[in-house]
Amino acid sequence: MTEKLYLNDAYLKECDSRITGINEKGVILDRTVFYASGGGQPGDSGKIIFNNREFMVRDTVKEGDDVLHIVDNREMLEIESQVRCLIDWERRYIHMKYHGAIHLIDAVVNMNPDYEGLITGSQIYDDKARVDFSMENFSQEIAQNVIDRTNSVINENHEILVKYMPGEEAVKIKNLARTEPGRQLIQKLETVRIVEIVGVDQQADGGTHVRNTSEIGTILLQKIENKGKRNKRMYFTLE
Ligand SMILES: [Zn+2]
Repeated sequence: MTEKLYLNDAYLKECDSRITGINEKGVILDRTVFYASGGGQPGDSGKIIFNNREFMVRDTVKEGDDVLHIVDNREMLEIESQVRCLIDWERRYIHMKYHGAIHLIDAVVNMNPDYEGLITGSQIYDDKARVDFSMENFSQEIAQNVIDRTNSVINENHEILVKYMPGEEAVKIKNLARTEPGRQLIQKLETVRIVEIVGVDQQADGGTHVRNTSEIGTILLQKIENKGKRNKRMYFTLE
């Protein structure tokens, strides 16, 4: 199993690792700073250095409990050798800001009885993010309202931290997992990783986040889309 260093320190940009596997799809390391795509957050890119040579990492994905690095010219790498890993930090930091913004939008929608609905999905891109709502009465006005309220919470400079809890304890906390598959997953876990926006929200989560909401910036609503009766979509950027 690859040790996922980003789970405990999202600000780690480099690490030394050992190659434990090379297959037709990519390279597996004993430990990594590369975030494996999941939960709406893209996989990291960057480079691996081996024998003073740079190998580009195009993407990072999960393969069971391992992290698979999609590396150029990987036939030139050798199993069991030591490599240095460096992520494209600028790109990752943008993802961390968007990830925090999505948590806050989710929290705002959950906290306010004005919004009759929930967030059903999200996707982060390098220059924007998308949030899907299950909400019948969604409009430009409601979307702007959600964004305005979220920006107010961002400006309160809340600390964001990671903590761990036994699965049986975690299931008792309302809204820790917002979907039924999420709740079922928590029950099976010995330890649940929780991302807490202090004073605002806590959620079971496997992503990387900024340390304080002040790092996120200001959310700008870009557009909304009507995808069906209760199926609405919103795009936003960060300034
Ligand atoms: Zn998250």
